[in-house]
Amino acid sequence: MRDFTLDAYRSLVLAFQRAGYQFHTFEEFVSCPAMNKTVVMRHDVDELARNALKMAKLENKLGISATYFFRIVKQSNSPEVIGQIVQLGHEIGYHYEDLALCEGDERRAIASFKENLEYFRKYYPVKSVCMHGSSTSKYDNRLLWKNHTLSEFGLVGEPYLSVDFEKVYYLTDTGYAWDGGKYATRDIVKSGYGLKFHSTQQIVNCLEKGEFPNTTLILAHTLWTNNSLQWYGLHLREFFRNRMKLMAKKNKGIGRLYGKMVELYWKQ
Ligand SMILES: [Zn+2]
Repeated sequence: MRDFTLDAYRSLVLAFQRAGYQFHTFEEFVSCPAMNKTVVMRHDVDELARNALKMAKLENKLGISATYFFRIVKQSNSPEVIGQIVQLGHEIGYHYEDLALCEGDERRAIASFKENLEYFRKYYPVKSVCMHGSSTSKYDNRLLWKNHTLSEFGLVGEPYLSVDFEKVYYLTDTGYAWDGGKYATRDIVKSGYGLKFHSTQQIVNCLEKGEFPNTTLILAHTLWTNNSLQWYGLHLREFFRNRMKLMAKKNKGIGRLYGKMVELYWKQ
């Protein structure tokens, strides 16, 4: 069976439910972190907003709420999709990248952050934000918080700042694998758990054995699809992207070339 399809996603959610886990939005979790057997499902909508809607509908059918972080770029920011995801009972957050977009100019970045946050608040009373990795930019978007606080903007949480990953098990599907962390540039957290998964089925098996940690934050991007053509296309792209990312870490020329390609992709 192919992994990272909506069918695989359904099997994962069902396995958590069978094992007695409750799903909470990120905002609920930061407000009350002491909950037992908790899954916080975070979706970074980097692109393919339509896929996010399919995932949101499936979750709604399964009776769970998740948190969708939207970027301001048009590949992510679809008012129609955002509106429908709110209707389905999910939380909306802002996936910010203002420091990278403003080339490190902190003053401009804060103004842009404020404006974009207000924009997303037209759809949902946004209380959570989450940085976008901006892997090809030299600016780390989290540096926005060097001289500012979340509460200044009426925010309660940022996954990279507000979660103790010694207590919360973190899983991410970066690069179409649960152990693809080596491909991540900034989306990295230190964790004290010795567990390692590659496929979704391995997580399901672990849940069935009762060996899965009590509290987990899962980052699932919106690349999960039942459409075979899209699935193969995206896997091929991720395969080359991961190769490029690894080579870019070792070779500056390839790094610059990769950076240009990403820039062109987001400008189209
Ligand atoms: Zn992102």
